[in-house]
Amino acid sequence: MKNRTLLMIPGPIEFEPAVLAAMGAPTSSHVAVDFIETFGQALERLRSVFLCEDGQPFVLAGSGTLAMDAVGANLVETGDRVLVVNTGYFGDRYAALLSRYGAQVTQISAPIGARPSLDEIDDALKKAAYKLVTVTHVDTSTGVITDVQGIANLAAHYGALSVVDGVCSIAGEALHMSDWGIDVALTASQKAIGVPPGLALFVVSPKAMKVFAERKTPVANYYADWNSWLPVMRAYEARQPSYFATPAVNLIEALNVSLRQILDEGMPARFERHRLLSAACKAGAAALGLKQIALKPEWAANTMTALRYPEGISGADFLPRVARAGAYLAGGLHPAIKNEYFRIGHMGAAKIGDVLTTIGAVEVALAQCDYRFELGAGVAAAQAVVL
Ligand code: PMP
Repeated sequence: MKNRTLLMIPGPIEFEPAVLAAMGAPTSSHVAVDFIETFGQALERLRSVFLCEDGQPFVLAGSGTLAMDAVGANLVETGDRVLVVNTGYFGDRYAALLSRYGAQVTQISAPIGARPSLDEIDDALKKAAYKLVTVTHVDTSTGVITDVQGIANLAAHYGALSVVDGVCSIAGEALHMSDWGIDVALTASQKAIGVPPGLALFVVSPKAMKVFAERKTPVANYYADWNSWLPVMRAYEARQPSYFATPAVNLIEALNVSLRQILDEGMPARFERHRLLSAACKAGAAALGLKQIALKPEWAANTMTALRYPEGISGADFLPRVARAGAYLAGGLHPAIKNEYFRIGHMGAAKIGDVLTTIGAVEVALAQCDYRFELGAGVAAAQAVVL
């Protein structure tokens, strides 16, 4: 694999060989006995990965945006108030999406790199009766992590459902859906879940399923209607054939393999590994004088790192050089600072060696851009975290 370049962006990520092998197996019928067993197992395992044994899991062909869309379509009725806790690009997306379903959206934002405090969210919730509170666990445009436990607590206190966009967090960042009282947690396959792009994954609490069941108006989205999917998910878990729209058979085979690997590692160990990879990456970057977008260490995610380019260096100069030195990184995404920073993903199957390779490649590219620093300082700082 001499031409292989590590894919260290915040999704899609590097995938395990066994997951990719499962993708490549001959496609079976979606009602074949073996596939029914696979899908049933995957649904059961999703509950364990989301740490929500009484939740209703859904697996739909689509991306993370479809999971967000399904929540809007099924839990919002025209005129419902929704509070969007916004820490970047994906908060903006959720506000726009929910408006399409007639929600009255109030946003609570913070400067780039910061997050709204629990007190501010509490104040907002005091002022009006909200049906939903949405929050992005890790906003991939800033690398800021939110206190979803605190926010879910507040939402429950004020009688609102909590919805966590965990696309850049679930199976990487600690998220205890039941214990934290989260009502919907959603993600996509291509990030810490460790499966190529193409699946929208979400788990819905019994409380949120009840709110859904009590809707007064029909769901205004044909494909995402939970009335159509609920019998399908229940049938597969009961090991019965079912059909509404063709499931992504090969992706679900791969999902089942990845979920087994995740549970074999164990959720606490997995969260801890992500903390270590992140600490190594951030220590390496700091030793090179690179500043994070997250304004405080406790606001920085463990699944990714967002870093400002040094003065005078542009993404066009820097990123292709990093790739030639061994790692693909992502440019900026937040529209207000798009050209000022870059992003490193370190989640899912990523190993400490991948982080060291990445920091090494960043050093090579910085040196080629005539940035002055002590060569090897970043790698040494990352190694020191591991030691
Ligand atoms: N939310 C977050 C936090 C994300 O990182 C992403 C994808 N980068 C999405 C939502 C949307 O997911 P997708 O691109 O799979 O539609």
